[in-house]
This record gives sequence, structure tokens and C-alpha cells, in this order.
Amino acid sequence: MVIEQDKVVAFHYRLRDEGGEVVEHSYDHPPVVYLHGHQNMLPGLERALEGHRPGDSFSVTLPPEQAYGLLRENMVQRISFKQLANGGRKGSYRPGMIVRVKTDLGPQEVTVVKVGLKSLDVDTNHPLAGKTVTFAVEVVEVRGATPEELSHGHAHGTGGHQH
Ligand code: ZN
Repeated sequence: MVIEQDKVVAFHYRLRDEGGEVVEHSYDHPPVVYLHGHQNMLPGLERALEGHRPGDSFSVTLPPEQAYGLLRENMVQRISFKQLANGGRKGSYRPGMIVRVKTDLGPQEVTVVKVGLKSLDVDTNHPLAGKTVTFAVEVVEVRGATPEELSHGHAHGTGGHQH
């Protein structure tokens, strides 16, 4: 079965930055599962997956606009330690560190710019914003979506939405 509109796709990936360093990969977990054609995936990656079959491996290099977006200016915010996803620990933060902040949409990764006594100044750009990234992808499984998945607009089960 090939990857096309309304198929549920399971894949593994390695994500490299411009220097070729692996910054993220999926091999510690079950494969990533998503519903194709419903904007659940980075647009450039979704386009590259189109037409592939289980067992296919390929690499795709994406400019920032097709990956994690351009670096936006004026994205620095002051947050209190309480807003950190792990509750915050005094003295354990340094500029350049990536920390997780609680938001209405779930935890979000931000970059520490400045450390204060009770607060942090953080840049809320995605840590990979402004970067060209390369995905090495291995397609694991392709199946038809259930009517329920189509009505929700996302995949269910292991690696997908659990509810
Ligand atoms: Zn659902």
C-alpha cells in the first residue's frame, strides 16, 4: 500500500542538523504514526513521504519554512520557575539550555536566554526554528484509516492519539 491521502503511516526517523549531527530520532520508541493529508506532520516531510511504501528508506533535506519555521524576532519572554514542566530547580539553568514550559497546548520546548533569581528569560522559537534539517526516514507500515480516525483527523493506537 502506498502513502497517499487518508492512509495511516508508521515510520522511524533520524533528524540531523546542518552539521550532520543527529538531534532527534524515534528508535527508542514505537514508530511515529500519523494520518496522511491532515496536516499532522511537518509539511515538507509529509510531501516527501507521499508515494512511498513499507520498507522504503529515504532522506529529505528541508529548509526552515518546510520544517520548524523561520526564526522569529522578539520571541523572548520572562517566565517563572513555576511555569516549567518539571517545576523548576534553582541554580540548574544556563543560557542556551532547552527547557520545557507548561502551556495550554501541552509542554513546549524553549531556549533559556538569561537566568534570574526567580525567573528565566526564554526564547519561544522552536529550538530547530531557522534551521535546515535532514530526515532519514524508514517507512514501517501503511494502512487504511478507520472511519473514526478520519472523523477525528488523526491516527489512533500505539504511536498515535490515545483516547
Ligand atoms: Zn481521535
